[in-house]
Amino acid sequence: MTTAPVPYRVTATGTETADCVSVEVEPTGRPLPEFTPGRFAMMYAFGVGEVPISVSAIHGHRLVHTVRAVGAVTRALCRLRVGDFVGLRGPYGTGWQLAAEDRPDVLLIAGGIGIAPLRPVVHQVLGHPGGFGRLEVLIGARTPQDLLYTGELARWRRAGARVEVTVDRPGPGWRGNVGVVTDLLARRETDSARATAMVCGPEVMIRHTARALLDRGLPAPRIQTSLERNMRCGVGHCGHCQLGPLLLCRDGPVVGYDRARIPLATRER
Ligand SMILES: Cc1cc2nc3c(=O)[nH]c(=O)nc-3n(C[C@H](O)[C@H](O)[C@H](O)COP(=O)(O)OP(=O)(O)OC[C@H]3O[C@@H](n4cnc5c(N)ncnc54)[C@H](O)[C@@H]3O)c2cc1C
Repeated sequence: MTTAPVPYRVTATGTETADCVSVEVEPTGRPLPEFTPGRFAMMYAFGVGEVPISVSAIHGHRLVHTVRAVGAVTRALCRLRVGDFVGLRGPYGTGWQLAAEDRPDVLLIAGGIGIAPLRPVVHQVLGHPGGFGRLEVLIGARTPQDLLYTGELARWRRAGARVEVTVDRPGPGWRGNVGVVTDLLARRETDSARATAMVCGPEVMIRHTARALLDRGLPAPRIQTSLERNMRCGVGHCGHCQLGPLLLCRDGPVVGYDRARIPLATRER
């Protein structure tokens, strides 16, 4: 695998929210190896810097990344226009484990931009009708304006997914759920005996959700969590992303809660 950034050209951009943009890129030459849901690229904004960003959709070698502008590099990525170039390394990290053999129920729980790395799982499940059991997507956001992919949610529902959304702070005209995303677990329809859960969002949300799922009978190894830390090298050399015994760029970001529980609890103290 190459560790030098490979040039990709921007083929489309789309504003998702006030601070989130989706950027579609395609290789200008030899593509990187195939990405799978949950894995990430190191994206290099030329002259600014490099950051880890998950794939939010995979169309062969064309990739979509959804970026929230929080600092210098992510702001530069959000300013990209069609025809601009970025550098990509990867794919890095572990991905979501999704084995179709035993037709599992799939329960996705996202907080904020955490829906971005889960979106390719939705595409994968809906793209294999009959391959999986029930698909449930539970999404929490701070406000209705912070919800991502709102245009796609109706398509997911039409294709058979149960999609529930909740917000912390409703605005005028909001008639949906209000509260934290774990509240939605009470009405969940997936079966603990056959479900695999994937949880992505702020760390506090991951901890509460994982505990709630354990209480509802899901075994810890079937609760997959995505743990994020500042990363530099992407290949487990620099130690920048160490969390307890885990180097998250290599051993994560997707880690079963059986392995994630202790490092997360240690950090909480
Ligand atoms: C595996 C992985 C996948 C990611 N996927 C996405 C994605 O799909 N879309 C997206 O928008 N962002 C994603 N991130 C987060 C993204 O990498 C950071 O927002 C980015 O590194 C910030 O860089 P910056 O130079 O723009 O801002 P900086 O100036 O470096 O940081 C701005 C602020 O964000 C905080 N920050 C930086 N990195 C992280 C991080 N990893 N987690 C939490 N806070 C952080 C800093 O502490 C600071 O407060 C991912 C991170 C990881 C580790």
